[in-house]
Amino acid sequence: MNFSIAPETQKILTGIQQFVEQEIYPLEKEVAAQGFRATLPRLKAARQKVKDKGFWCPQIPREFGGMGLGLMEHGMVSAVLGRSLLGHYVFNCQAPDAGNMEILISHGTPEQKKTWLEPLLRGEIRSCFAMTEPEHAGSNPLWMDTAAVKDGDDYVINGHKWFASSADGASFAVAMVVTDPNAPPHQRASQIIVPLNTPGFKLVKNISVMNHVGEDHPSHAEVRFTDCRVPRKNLLGKEGEGFKIAQERLGAGRIHHCMRWLGICERAFDLMCKRAAERELAPGKPLGTRQIVQAWIAESRAEINAARLMVLEAAWKIEQLGQLAAREEISCIKFYVAGVLLKVLDRAIQTHGAMGLTPETPLASFFAAERGARIYDGPDEVHKMVVARQILKKYGVAVST
Ligand SMILES: Cc1cc2nc3c(=O)[nH]c(=O)nc-3n(C[C@H](O)[C@H](O)[C@H](O)COP(=O)(O)OP(=O)(O)OC[C@H]3O[C@@H](n4cnc5c(N)ncnc54)[C@H](O)[C@@H]3O)c2cc1C
Repeated sequence: MNFSIAPETQKILTGIQQFVEQEIYPLEKEVAAQGFRATLPRLKAARQKVKDKGFWCPQIPREFGGMGLGLMEHGMVSAVLGRSLLGHYVFNCQAPDAGNMEILISHGTPEQKKTWLEPLLRGEIRSCFAMTEPEHAGSNPLWMDTAAVKDGDDYVINGHKWFASSADGASFAVAMVVTDPNAPPHQRASQIIVPLNTPGFKLVKNISVMNHVGEDHPSHAEVRFTDCRVPRKNLLGKEGEGFKIAQERLGAGRIHHCMRWLGICERAFDLMCKRAAERELAPGKPLGTRQIVQAWIAESRAEINAARLMVLEAAWKIEQLGQLAAREEISCIKFYVAGVLLKVLDRAIQTHGAMGLTPETPLASFFAAERGARIYDGPDEVHKMVVARQILKKYGVAVST
């Protein structure tokens, strides 16, 4: 394993870090004060600057207009962009669009690519991914009610989903729906593109998360499909391949999330150290002179370093051996890095005292936006079970679900 950074990658990382600090950090307070939607014109201008600098869509192959970075390189970029909650959006590699772009590149028909992928890549439209249902445990993705029934040249979809991130203002959803309830469990569902202006699709409401309702891209919606009719040509891949397609994006998706969280960790760590150096308990006695604060700093540094190496190792293994071989590592980083993220954020907030809870720093927004890190993309407990099962198998213990 060689985690040294090639000079050309370092140049990209330095350029992107400068951009994030100079162009994106100043937008954070504007978004906090006025809201995301009101700040869209300024965000659009920042996106144009990213395009002009050649940093647009870093993870997308060059033939589709991106930078063509590999998993590890994009992971490193993601760690830089993650320093701001706006970073990925401004570079057009934000979830869930980035995952939908990848699915459309791999499985989209030429017509789907023209209609949905191209405007998504240009940053003209947004999308969402609707899988989780309020009535069923999302931890068991095989269990869902939303169904698509064939009728002539159409599918007619009925069902109820929630936590469809970024549905507010999106042009289409990739909906995970049951197309054959009698098939084996992993072949029951398909992914279907649903334009959000289709009659029968309803965005019921943006769900309040940690008491933030959110709007536009930073939001999570409850949605309903009621006799929602879409042409059969909107099927992504083949019928019954919904889980197979979903699995394909999981490995890379988790590397992206974990590296983004490490970006948040680095920003929080930097803010914690600055506050420890500047805030005086008494004249000449900054917080950093206290051993407990020193311990927070040392432990955070060690945990972030460890997490970073774990993520790079998982990315390396995916690149070398494929995501199936890296299943244990992928699950390890998902829960470990999410835990480090929340610990580091909490220490950074604590170091700032009451100010840490205000919009004076991005820490409170980070915490509100990312408490879900231990829940989405598989809760901690599920990933721990995957890791333990793999390990115990080697000891002759078969653990059933
Ligand atoms: C911020 C955020 C964004 C999201 N975005 C999307 C999106 O864009 N599209 C989408 O479709 N969904 C999205 N989700 C939903 C997410 O995928 C689900 O929340 C997740 O799969 C967990 O499902 P659940 O909430 O139904 O929890 P449940 O499945 O009801 O689980 C509840 C709790 O039970 C515990 N648990 C679960 N399984 C086990 C087990 N096997 N052993 C022991 N304990 C267990 C865990 O602690 C878990 O937190 C998002 C969620 C969040 C928080």
